[in-house]
Amino acid sequence: MQKAFKVTLTPNHSQEVLINKSIGCARFVYNHFLALRQQLYLTEQKTLNYNACSQQLTLLKKEVEWLQEVDKFALQNSLRNLETAYKNFFADLKKAKGKRNVGFPKFKKKHGCKQSYKTNLTNGNIQVIQNGLKLPKMGWVKFHKSQDITGTIINVTVTRTNRGKYIASILCETEIEKYPQVAQNIGLDLGIKSYLVASNGEVVDNPKYYRTQKRKLRKAHKKLSRTVKGSSNRVKAKIKLALTYERITNLRDDFLHKLSTRLIRENSIICLEDLRVANMVRNHKLALSISDASWTKFITMLEYKSVWHDRVVQKVGTFYPSSQTCNHCGFINPLVKDLKLREWSCPSCNSYNLRDKNAALNILGEGLRLLTAVGTPEVIKNACGEFVSPEVIQAEIVEAGIA
Ligand SMILES: [Zn+2]
Repeated sequence: MQKAFKVTLTPNHSQEVLINKSIGCARFVYNHFLALRQQLYLTEQKTLNYNACSQQLTLLKKEVEWLQEVDKFALQNSLRNLETAYKNFFADLKKAKGKRNVGFPKFKKKHGCKQSYKTNLTNGNIQVIQNGLKLPKMGWVKFHKSQDITGTIINVTVTRTNRGKYIASILCETEIEKYPQVAQNIGLDLGIKSYLVASNGEVVDNPKYYRTQKRKLRKAHKKLSRTVKGSSNRVKAKIKLALTYERITNLRDDFLHKLSTRLIRENSIICLEDLRVANMVRNHKLALSISDASWTKFITMLEYKSVWHDRVVQKVGTFYPSSQTCNHCGFINPLVKDLKLREWSCPSCNSYNLRDKNAALNILGEGLRLLTAVGTPEVIKNACGEFVSPEVIQAEIVEAGIA
């Protein structure tokens, strides 16, 4: 399995210069070939693929000598990234029919965004010891050790963040010690008031880091806008602003990691709604809360951790009426469409339903139903650690109240 380990590098001065040079050269190559591809297409309707670019790069390196000073993999990976950007663009163009998500490859800017380059392992050019990372052309770079790096290195991406910190993401092929199998399954209703409510009744509060840090953010933005372009105060203000954003991201990522890890450890099958976050964010009143909740990131975490630990994440269609359906009798109560209605008594069976918990139970039931409908014995076996016949799942569905 592949896992990325992130460490903060503490390069010495000459290493710092070389990292910046590598990032600059990678950007130069990307932009150079993007321009070339665009020009060739306009003048001769010709496309230039990765291999053709790669051949031209060899020639370019003879012409532009400073390109030879940096890691050759950084430059090659730049070409690969460009190729991927083109492929994604055309794949999206074919698929989208008017509604496009992926734009045309853009030129990389020198300022304002995070910058990086990637290098690959060949013949031991990259190594890790206690608190040192050996990189091509760079030698040993020190780093702060926060976790054990295990496995075989595949590649390393070196990033300079907005506020000038250097981070290496070391991608390794590694064995992950799997969590023991458990029999528990869970349904999750993701929300705004609470981050999530689980089918077992657990409520996880929404930390809303963005909102709590809003004052600090506003202050930092204000300070920046008052500085003069090109002044050293402006640089300082920029760093301060980037730091505030970084702190929010770190707090939120930490929260998401802890929550997703715990849910994966404690449960075998996790069912949740397939959110169309992009659509929901268009609703501006909710937009800040939704992007603050970063559900997409959370679901991605659950998904890749489920692969590590043989768990199943099952999504339930967005149009499944999870809130309105009574979990006890299946009656659909249209009154529950009103978001303010937090609890309700079922007109059909008289049972008392807490809005979110009821929704979570329905999501669990629907998820389990979909899993049996897919019916691959492999999935059912992996999910529960042993082979479980569809009837057992069926029994669980009945127990969850969705027969
Ligand atoms: Zn009912």
